[in-house]
Amino acid sequence: MIINEIFYSLQGEGFLAGVPSVFVRLAGCPLRCRWCDTKYAWDEKAGKNYSIDKIIQTVRQWPCKLVVITGGEPMINSDLPQLVRQLKTADKHVTIETAGIAYIPEMPCDLISISPKLSNSAPTDPELASIHEDSRLDIAVLGKLIDSYQFQLKFVVDSKSDLAEIQQTLEKTGNVDFEKVMLMPQAATRDELLLKSPMVAEMCKQTGFSFSQRLQVLLWNNQKGR
Ligand code: SF4
Repeated sequence: MIINEIFYSLQGEGFLAGVPSVFVRLAGCPLRCRWCDTKYAWDEKAGKNYSIDKIIQTVRQWPCKLVVITGGEPMINSDLPQLVRQLKTADKHVTIETAGIAYIPEMPCDLISISPKLSNSAPTDPELASIHEDSRLDIAVLGKLIDSYQFQLKFVVDSKSDLAEIQQTLEKTGNVDFEKVMLMPQAATRDELLLKSPMVAEMCKQTGFSFSQRLQVLLWNNQKGR
């Protein structure tokens, strides 16, 4: 598999925020979101070739049960099920971070952390924006992921007007346990995070959705590998 980076940190987002975790970042993502903080992992060749045994060996060097497979977009990688199986054999708790654009059945992961992309993530380049718009949201895929796996849904909020789009997405998907829905501020820097957090907090109070931290931004200002 092409591995962009493997590093040890704290889970920064979602219901497991704050828990020490090893991050395995796979290379490749077709969406090209405007505010993506891992653009260096977009290219499917942006990394080094690792065997699954070497990934497991690398992950095992840290005293940590949680492993987060992230990207890029891990769900477009055909070797993902085998990696998940071998991490479970190594007694790891496995989270897959995904934009929810592809479905793979019967993986023994513990959590799928889905961050469906709203129109606020459209790239500025018109050609890329068109590709992004065509592939950023597949309600059928989202529904299958939610029905098949333990999940959390994290929406990135850039402005108050995003709330209507989030609610429409949830209505279309149907059958979503709102206790598993989180909102988090769109923020590339600590200053931006602190600026937008009160707005998102108010949206959470209004809707009952949970507020998701972004510890990697708050603690390390989005520094790569932290
Ligand atoms: S889906 Fe995630 S990894 Fe891919 S471009 Fe968007 S934010 Fe970046």
